[in-house]
Amino acid sequence: MFLFSFPSRPSYTSGCKPSALATALAASMLLSACASVPLPPWIPVPSRPAAVTNPPVAFPPGEPGVTVQTSPIAPPSVIANSPTEAPAPYNALVAARFPAPSIVYSTPGLQPNRTTFTTDEEIHSWLRDQETALSRSAGIKAALLTIGTSQQGQPLEALVLTRGTGTDPAALKATSRPTVLLIGQQHGDEPAGSEALLVIARELAQGLLQPMLERINVIIVPRANPDGSRKGEHGTANGLDLNHDHLLLNTPEAQALAQLARDYKPMVVLDAHEYNPVSQYQEKFGALQKYDALFQYATTANLPEFLIKADQEWYRRPLLAALKGQGLSTEWYYTTSADLADKKIAMGSALPTTSRNVNGLKNSISLLVETRGTGLGRLHIQRRVHTHVTAITSVLGSTSQRASELGQLIPYLDKEVSSLACKEQAVVEAANTPAQYDLQMLDPVTGADKLVTVDWDSALALRTLKSRVRPCGYWLAASSKTAVSRMRRHGIEVFQMLEQGSLLGDLYRETSRSSSSQQPLKSDATDGFPALRAEVALTRGVIDAPAGSYYVPLNQPLANLAMAALEPDTQSSYFANRLLDSLASVARVMSAPSLKTEELP
Ligand SMILES: [Zn+2]
Repeated sequence: MFLFSFPSRPSYTSGCKPSALATALAASMLLSACASVPLPPWIPVPSRPAAVTNPPVAFPPGEPGVTVQTSPIAPPSVIANSPTEAPAPYNALVAARFPAPSIVYSTPGLQPNRTTFTTDEEIHSWLRDQETALSRSAGIKAALLTIGTSQQGQPLEALVLTRGTGTDPAALKATSRPTVLLIGQQHGDEPAGSEALLVIARELAQGLLQPMLERINVIIVPRANPDGSRKGEHGTANGLDLNHDHLLLNTPEAQALAQLARDYKPMVVLDAHEYNPVSQYQEKFGALQKYDALFQYATTANLPEFLIKADQEWYRRPLLAALKGQGLSTEWYYTTSADLADKKIAMGSALPTTSRNVNGLKNSISLLVETRGTGLGRLHIQRRVHTHVTAITSVLGSTSQRASELGQLIPYLDKEVSSLACKEQAVVEAANTPAQYDLQMLDPVTGADKLVTVDWDSALALRTLKSRVRPCGYWLAASSKTAVSRMRRHGIEVFQMLEQGSLLGDLYRETSRSSSSQQPLKSDATDGFPALRAEVALTRGVIDAPAGSYYVPLNQPLANLAMAALEPDTQSSYFANRLLDSLASVARVMSAPSLKTEELP
């Protein structure tokens, strides 16, 4: 308990010491942070050609001698590769476009004659084996953590790998090395990411990727949704889509991942998925999807410019080169609706709900990789795993190569975001921008490329739908315990008033209301309440803030995530999804208050 006085300027500015800066990059960044001036020019360190080539640590999937290669097995049949599998959803000419790689991966679920992917028990043993192997070797530490429990009681597991003195968050922080969080199988019907992460775990622990641990720490969650996986279903046990639950945290699976990220603060998060190459595309376009990998970084409102530059220059360019080097094709991530009359194709949305966007709002490099696999059973499985292994290896290599720059960039972003409190306009709601795009697909009869010009919602330029002056913070009523607990799980700082106070702020007044038909979380499937779309007007006034109510300052690194949760008139917000009980429970605080508060643990 203490008297917390909210500084009118971010307190970090007093600590700036440009003389201590080691590099030109750091100097320009930190000088900017000190002065809170517009962004300095980006310095991509162009003298290092490795920025656009493969990572320096060699793990050439497909090369002979890689330890994951076991005795050769027959490549998957192009029609049906297991007697129990349904036939391939396309003909042999299409299938022939996707030959098996020269490498053969041999996780439990990829063994010859297997009809099921690696089970939860096999994943547990595999991860335990890596931990045990490292307990005998010097230098590297490993820990298999239980980070939560699925809705059906299955443990959610993470393998931590580091050269630090321990495997707890403080020990990883003390290494001053960036931590990479790799997440697989949020969707139960997308197995390739999970199998690939087992390969990566073993290569890091005992194989050719081990040298990377000199420069980075790695945390691997091979299967984030074991309940869905066991049934081969997309969602979690209660039907919620885990990957749209990363802002609200309604599922224990999303809560576990949020807590892991809060505690270990990964600078890089990669989320491994698969996509369906047939689904509606055949009906809508008379074509099939072509690309081995679809890729996208965070694209949502208010992301710092330097984060996006790092996504593009430090990660996307090397990743495209690495995939190309393996003969694997890539495109931006895109999807289309289930409505056959709607021929629009959209890149991943701007909603602040997915792992990709939420981790971006935590100022992390946040990447999505989807392989061509959902609905294919075991067809092309070695190629799908190879695509993920190649992409993940590139991301680990980029992090390893950029370790020191990331160590400058991420703290800079935290300070930059904090420094915006009470200033300028912030985007409350954004959306992709309509465009046209020439997309290569496949002719379902001949298997040849087929160019289709499509209406394309681009995430590379977001449209601002709604913007407001960025407040100094938000006041929340004492009844907002659920919202506060979800924010705390994200690591958002929340203070509780110790005595009655008054705040100058903007109160929300509802002007209209409707139920959203585009809510991707399907929250109505479980709690009976569709998301609310309220339109609001703001009224300047004095907020009575009784003891026990809350203050969420925006001079903190997760300010943009707090805004996504608390501005009520968006489909993703805590109010729209009933985590806040009324519009009167939240208000925008417009001048930095000085109040007697305590920070919640
Ligand atoms: Zn998915």
